[in-house]
Amino acid sequence: MASQVVTKIELSSLPKLASGKVRDLYEIDDKTLLFLTTDRISAFDVIMANGVPWKGAILTQLTAHWFGVLAERIPGLKTHFLTLAPPAGLSPPETELVRGRSMQVRKLRVFPIEAIVRGYITGSAWSEYQKSGTVHGLPQPAGLQRCSPFPSAIYTPSTKAELGQHDENITPAQAAEIVGERYASRIEALALQVYNAGAAYARERGIIIADTKFEFGLDEETDDIVLIDEVLTPDSSRFWPADEYEVGRDQDSFDKQFLRNWLIKEGLKYKEGVAMPPDVAEATSARYKDAFKRLAGKTLDEALAELD
Ligand code: ATP
Ligand code: MG
Repeated sequence: MASQVVTKIELSSLPKLASGKVRDLYEIDDKTLLFLTTDRISAFDVIMANGVPWKGAILTQLTAHWFGVLAERIPGLKTHFLTLAPPAGLSPPETELVRGRSMQVRKLRVFPIEAIVRGYITGSAWSEYQKSGTVHGLPQPAGLQRCSPFPSAIYTPSTKAELGQHDENITPAQAAEIVGERYASRIEALALQVYNAGAAYARERGIIIADTKFEFGLDEETDDIVLIDEVLTPDSSRFWPADEYEVGRDQDSFDKQFLRNWLIKEGLKYKEGVAMPPDVAEATSARYKDAFKRLAGKTLDEALAELD
């Protein structure tokens, strides 16, 4: 695949269906999408002007790796993954552009909630707990400290906001009103099952997955709930190095901490349109690659070589 950093992609051979903060979705046919990940990165909810080398490939290859691991550990799990091969019919330069950073997936009706699972208390959950003893409205045991593990992982959904809006934390009961009783408890059980399997796998490899966000779709022909989107990546999860973990204080995240520290030092936090200097982009890239290698047990180069 081409090693250039790509923050914007316009394919001419396929119709574009949607564009998110990080991905572009193209329609291959009425049942199949090209799920294409750029090198864009956000910090403090703001997208940087330039990208992180290899980030799109890392997120794509890591998600594909997880689909394999999870299918082994959760019998009967359905996912949207079809293949890492670029679709036929792209021009040679476009094929090179998407190779490694894209996958073909089944096009499904997306449940409009974010299925968040938390194993450890941090972020907005910690803020809420300090005020009310609850997390997403759910009462929690007394005496939790900053970054404590929950006695067992909890399902804490949020709304799925439009681009530019912020997701809102909701209770599982509110999520059930959105997706319907018919699917709510199955989504909750699946989200917990996938988190627990993924967190155990990552822990064996020195990474704590403090919390994560899943998305699910519906296979309308079989009524099956299908795991979609990216899965257990540093963008959709908080990854902490297990050997540095200490309860009672904030943890350095694996991937974006370097960028966040630089933004704070330069007084650029929340500023739009900031370009990272090359050393910051490279250091961030190295951290994403390190997380990939620990979890996949191979380097990104090795994973990409397997594609050819
Ligand atoms: P962010 O992840 O940055 O908060 P986002 O989720 O809007 O924002 P992206 O991750 O860039 O954006 O884009 C992925 C989009 O593709 C999401 O809207 C997701 O719901 C959608 N999606 C994922 N898998 C499928 C699928 N199999 N069928 C249809 N839509 C899908
Ligand atoms: Mg997303």
